[in-house]
Amino acid sequence: MTRIQPEPTTNDAGIPVESDEHSLTVGPDGPILLQDHYLIEQMAQFNRERVPERQPHAKGSGAFGRFEVTGDVSAYTKAAVFQPGTKTELLARFSTVAGERGSPDTWRDPRGFALKFYTTEGVYDMVGNNTPVFFIRDPLKFQHFIRSQKRRADNNLRDHDMQWDFWTLSPESAHQVTWLMGDRGIPRTWRHMNGYSSHTYLWVNAAGDRFWVKYHFKCDQGVEHFTQDEADQMVSADTDYHTRDLFEAIERGDHPSWTLKMQIMPFEEAKTYRYNPFDLTKVWPHEDYPLIEVGRMTLDRNPTDHHAEIEQAAFEPNNLVPGIGPSPDKMLLGRLFAYADAHRHRIGANYKQLPVNASTSPVHSYSKDGAMRFTKVTDPVYAPNSKGGPQADTERYGAPAGWHTDGEMVRGAYTLREQDDDWGQAGTMVRDVLDDAERGRLVDNIVGHLLNAVSEPVLLRAFEYWRNVDKDLGDKVEAGVRAKQDEKDPKAAEQGNPARTSMQDKA
Ligand code: NDP
Repeated sequence: MTRIQPEPTTNDAGIPVESDEHSLTVGPDGPILLQDHYLIEQMAQFNRERVPERQPHAKGSGAFGRFEVTGDVSAYTKAAVFQPGTKTELLARFSTVAGERGSPDTWRDPRGFALKFYTTEGVYDMVGNNTPVFFIRDPLKFQHFIRSQKRRADNNLRDHDMQWDFWTLSPESAHQVTWLMGDRGIPRTWRHMNGYSSHTYLWVNAAGDRFWVKYHFKCDQGVEHFTQDEADQMVSADTDYHTRDLFEAIERGDHPSWTLKMQIMPFEEAKTYRYNPFDLTKVWPHEDYPLIEVGRMTLDRNPTDHHAEIEQAAFEPNNLVPGIGPSPDKMLLGRLFAYADAHRHRIGANYKQLPVNASTSPVHSYSKDGAMRFTKVTDPVYAPNSKGGPQADTERYGAPAGWHTDGEMVRGAYTLREQDDDWGQAGTMVRDVLDDAERGRLVDNIVGHLLNAVSEPVLLRAFEYWRNVDKDLGDKVEAGVRAKQDEKDPKAAEQGNPARTSMQDKA
């Protein structure tokens, strides 16, 4: 067998290095010399290897693939990416929300479902989750919500007491918490969960007609989950189980796919719909807006450098291409600012030049300079100009995808519609969607989450919260907690269950 001769090691300037193993010293036992620039380069680069982790969604991974349009939704959007027969390269990143970069994949948590489409009209990002709803509906609460899911100030521990304190004081969270405590709160793998835009977006067709839409990526592998016990065991068996599963499936040619289906609401119907169609804590019942098939996403290529292609991937809901716009969903409008701002902080002002973030269609922008810029800027550097610089094509792209709005400035909740309340859809899910076995696991999961981890008065509020969702469910949760309250969970200590904090000992 011929042995392949490796390339000679060089430093980052391409200069061959003298040794992979020995620093430059005065004699074999002597002090290290400051002129050993290779050693200094190695240490300095190492010290800077980590970029700040994402605040939420820190733990995740992903893969590349493509989206193929199989249906015809040209009557609803002119976006090139969704025209019949179009194929578009894409990147998907899946993640947990609350855990840090080294945290276990199988903690109970929603999962991020972020997509980056490299379209002929620029980069289009759909930054969704594996759940159709969310915990809150105003971006002013988002930072507080995430802090309540992360770590306490004093002992740096995660704390179910503060999670339930926030949730029970925020009744709009009930639908999402019901979903989270159910089976789908711990997907078996990323290949076995759906993805949802959750937000409502605006689609505009070639004639300028507008439609409100929601995206549903239904996983072709089927939805599967772990029970709480299975997930707890997996925390110790394989912290990175979901990361490994996706990578290995793609390596062996088992390429996961999802079918994109849309709910589409004619523009005018939003004004009189029985729910506020922009409230992120609500779904549009399928019977009102049935799913319309658009196409299929398939993942078939693993990253070769996780840091360059996944960690530095910068998804941003503001990357909306012609034919797609935002909606009056306040959470979405907040995210349009927050994501790009996080990337500028985390990666740097020129993050869009990195290959994973760069548009594959031509960029003719007037952005200039900044740290680590490497694509060259040419004159003229201003607009308008008479020197042949880019000019906006307002005839073609001039009409923003938007809606009419006016009113007094207020700080207030959405105007309530006929069926807008915080408990109704959560109750529908408990009573009409789940079967007896699923309802039983829902009770067990809630009891396990509350038990010996949540102090009164939060605990009493939690019982009322569940009674508001469904009287029978709330009664069972209270009975379950009271019956086991004095028992210590034998698994708690060994597994470092995040439910067990100093609050338990204080209680
Ligand atoms: P449907 O009976 O038409 O739809 C119920 C949907 O619930 C299913 O299609 C499925 O969504 C989802 N579902 C099934 N099992 C579970 C589970 N264990 N955990 C979470 N979701 C599950 O009824 P409606 O459209 O009238 O909705 C009723 C309730 O269903 C809603 O209040 C909401 O809680 C939930 N739901 C509705 C969705 C929607 O877009 N209408 C989407 C997801 C949940 P999927 O097909 O997406 O897998």
